[in-house]
Amino acid sequence: MLQLLPGKREGKVTSRGRARSWRDHILERRKSACLSLLRGDMSGDDELNLLVIVVDTNPIWWGKQALGGSELTLSKCLDAAMVLGNSHLFMNRNNKLAVIASHIQESRFLYPGKHWAPADLFGESNISGSKDGKYELLTTINETIAEEIKDLMTNTEIRGQQTESLLAGSLAKAICYIHRMTKEGKASQEIKSRILVIKAAEDSALQYMNFMNVIFAAQKQNILIDACVLDSDSGLLQQACDITGGIYLKVPHMPSLLQYLLWVYLPDQEQRSQLILPPPVHVDYRAACFCHRNLIEIGYVCSVCLSIFCSFSPICTTCETAFKISLPAVMKSKKKKLKLAV
Ligand SMILES: [Zn+2]
Ligand SMILES: [Zn+2]
Repeated sequence: MLQLLPGKREGKVTSRGRARSWRDHILERRKSACLSLLRGDMSGDDELNLLVIVVDTNPIWWGKQALGGSELTLSKCLDAAMVLGNSHLFMNRNNKLAVIASHIQESRFLYPGKHWAPADLFGESNISGSKDGKYELLTTINETIAEEIKDLMTNTEIRGQQTESLLAGSLAKAICYIHRMTKEGKASQEIKSRILVIKAAEDSALQYMNFMNVIFAAQKQNILIDACVLDSDSGLLQQACDITGGIYLKVPHMPSLLQYLLWVYLPDQEQRSQLILPPPVHVDYRAACFCHRNLIEIGYVCSVCLSIFCSFSPICTTCETAFKISLPAVMKSKKKKLKLAV
């Protein structure tokens, strides 16, 4: 490197002078970088990109993974999510981040945590100085996430049969948070929001109704839902991505999670059209019946409230509408004959 310096080649500049010329060079570069940053800010100040990452932290599923000797552990998965979050914040100074853990008994905000005021998210707070030259905000975010997840994992007792991740609840929380940020933001700023779900455990048909309601709410609010599925395919998330225009991807090789996250989910909706991304999947549009929460292909639909049932019942259990039982064909024809006779 040093041989390329003009001073060295001319043989006139002392080592001190060489250092100075390097410093000037670096200062010049920093100045131009700052100027371009400022210019960039002025053009994109009215747009705010909010990414909410929902991570499935189901302790049973992750425990099984660890027992099975899988290369991907919960801490590695969270590391990958943090790298994605940090990269998202690096893309633009207007980008914002939130991380939610979808656990078995609660959904918890890992970031922003309980001690964060909304002002922090708009960059108006004083964050304590950096220790190692890393961007202070990123250090704070990563530390907060690590602390919260430690607290969540150590304070959860697994009680009874409740072993499902509360994904629908986490998504609802994410949508409420996005709604709040939209209300609290500056009026001139347009907020583009998306939710990324990193899903581990299997779907829960019990949450079908809540899940579908959340998806339709997201669609109405123009919120994109992306899904990155680690293990078994999720019919509910396939529908969520299809309805809101997000990308659904089942990671083919779990240990390379980070690569997939950065490749597929870092670019926002506008940039995606310019990239070659995985082709869309076939969506499993089966619905769960309201009586047993089984996924069914053919069933009975209440014409009043659109509830779905796997077997016929004369009274809808949701809206209590009574249906007339269709009479057998023989009796109908007899009635017609009687009418004709009269
Ligand atoms: Zn049923
Ligand atoms: Zn009904």
